[in-house]
Amino acid sequence: MTKLVVNYSSNRYQYSMAIEPDSFDAIVIGSGISGGWAAKELCEKGLKTLVLERGRNVEHIKDYPTAHMPPWEFEYRGRMSKEFYDKNPLISKAAGFGADTAHFFVEDDEHPYVQEKPFDWIRGYQVGGKSLTWGRACQRWSDYEFKAPHKYGYGIEWPITYEEIAPWYSHVEKFVGVCGNKDGIEAMPDGEFLPPFDFSCVEQHMSDRIKEHYPDRYLVQGRWAQLSEPQEIHSEQGRGKCQSRNLCMRGCPFGGYFSSVSSTLPWAKKTGNLTIRPFSVVHSILYDEETGKASGVKVIDTNTQQEIIFKARIIFVNASALNTNLILLNSRSQRFPNGLGNDNGLMGKYICFHLYRGFSSGKIEGFKDKYVYGKNPTEPILANYRNLKEQEMDYVGGFTTFCGAHRAREDKLTESDVQIGADFKHAISEPGDWHMYMYMQGETIPKKTNCVYLSTEKKDQWGIPLLVTDVGYDENDDKMVADFLEQSKEMLEKIGCTEINVGDNKQPPGLDIHEMGGVRMGKNPKDSLLNEWNQLYLCKNVFVTDGACMTSTGNQSPSILYMALTARAAQYAADQFKKGKL
Ligand SMILES: Cc1cc2nc3c(=O)[nH]c(=O)nc-3n(C[C@H](O)[C@H](O)[C@H](O)COP(=O)(O)OP(=O)(O)OC[C@H]3O[C@@H](n4cnc5c(N)ncnc54)[C@H](O)[C@@H]3O)c2cc1C
Repeated sequence: MTKLVVNYSSNRYQYSMAIEPDSFDAIVIGSGISGGWAAKELCEKGLKTLVLERGRNVEHIKDYPTAHMPPWEFEYRGRMSKEFYDKNPLISKAAGFGADTAHFFVEDDEHPYVQEKPFDWIRGYQVGGKSLTWGRACQRWSDYEFKAPHKYGYGIEWPITYEEIAPWYSHVEKFVGVCGNKDGIEAMPDGEFLPPFDFSCVEQHMSDRIKEHYPDRYLVQGRWAQLSEPQEIHSEQGRGKCQSRNLCMRGCPFGGYFSSVSSTLPWAKKTGNLTIRPFSVVHSILYDEETGKASGVKVIDTNTQQEIIFKARIIFVNASALNTNLILLNSRSQRFPNGLGNDNGLMGKYICFHLYRGFSSGKIEGFKDKYVYGKNPTEPILANYRNLKEQEMDYVGGFTTFCGAHRAREDKLTESDVQIGADFKHAISEPGDWHMYMYMQGETIPKKTNCVYLSTEKKDQWGIPLLVTDVGYDENDDKMVADFLEQSKEMLEKIGCTEINVGDNKQPPGLDIHEMGGVRMGKNPKDSLLNEWNQLYLCKNVFVTDGACMTSTGNQSPSILYMALTARAAQYAADQFKKGKL
């Protein structure tokens, strides 16, 4: 066994370690939401697992520098400088981005890509990936979502059903801790829930009025990866009850929400089987023509620029959807000149995303004697009510609607009435009218023309080709947005709102941060790349279980499904490994 000694350091992280290139059973590329789950499951099953992460290390609690900072300690009260905004127009638009979270997002010019059409690619390159900053919405997909694309002719058939993935949703929900109510809604199946966060009085009013006017529409409490009432399994992870601070995206020192840094990675570490290697950009996966399998991965150490090869019998690719496409497309060999397992030429195609363009809001009179205590970190969800049992609209797919209500500042505080001193302090301490909002999360059609590919001219600082994104909207999206706007306006009217405002923000795809596809699962290797166990059809020891594997987008938040798919695939991989089949 060869022994390669690697020394690397940076101002943030310093150590040296000995790597034995062929001493790992499994390699996981990426340490975010899905990579963390792969690591946990593989390590628990006794496999020596190496997690390769391109970014810096992030340790739970220690590396949350803003977790306890009050607004006045930020130089610009939580905003960034004008210079920063001028230099970073893209990342500044991301949900939750601010001075308190900026250290968990990639700046615009750090990691370039080529936009054939406008596409906002939001990334977090560090141990934990985007699990540190995600919104934490965790609804299950319904059977309708798995079946509709094929049934109504806008996609291929999923190789798995809701019934097959349901136990894995349960497995993941129990460990992650998902709050919510068992509401018995077909469009959004129930899970293993901790108690929900309460509606505010106005959200309860919204829910009641919607039920009264629409027998098939259900506004329910948020299903969120939030520990409302920690169970033993969460205490074992060292995580505690959510304090309702709603400062999650800074990293939670209480472990109140799920991230791979607070949960799956430390759990994997406890097994003694985990090695995490930050500052390690995976360049490509290596293919062995003799065995017909992947033999390892080529990594570039971002501190030393050294190329290193790590070997293992199983490789999980969890670099997040588009980076997974990039790595696989860049994994070229004599056998696979167009990317690993890409004989059908479909890798990088059928990229899809969630439609977030429509929003609405309104003011509601009354309830002025009521307020809320604590900051609810969840949002009520209006389950999809379109194209469920039949194809009834002039567009395909459905949409989930996130909603909420809050009290604005005292009405007297208007721009024409600028106050200073004691008057100002008094005015901002008084809550004003209640307002409501709704915004959509819609399904999009996986289309061959929406694709990513490697630039033939431009490379990054490590000589890896840049990714080109060629992804756009279509007529189906426009029709769905129009329907959402009409319906949400009508609902706000029926709830009793005034001053209703609806709009299409026309934001580019990508800003939804739910990009999916490119290496899709399917029943037939002619039109898909992965089988029902998330194995590359043509290279069985490579598993893809992040958003790249998605056959269609559904209308529910996707990450809990990535976790369930990952856990399921990891169990299969470990079994096959033990039987000597991988
Ligand atoms: C503000 C925000 C709100 C969101 N809200 C929700 C929500 O409410 N619900 C929901 O379901 N989802 C939500 N998401 C999306 C969610 O974060 C992603 O779906 C999820 O993180 C994807 O998991 P992943 O493991 O595929 O990728 P990530 O969590 O992004 O992890 C990928 C990791 O791979 C690493 N990596 C990339 N390339 C390489 C390489 N070449 N070599 C080595 N390492 C590499 C990255 O640095 C990263 O650490 C939100 C995201 C954001 C940012």
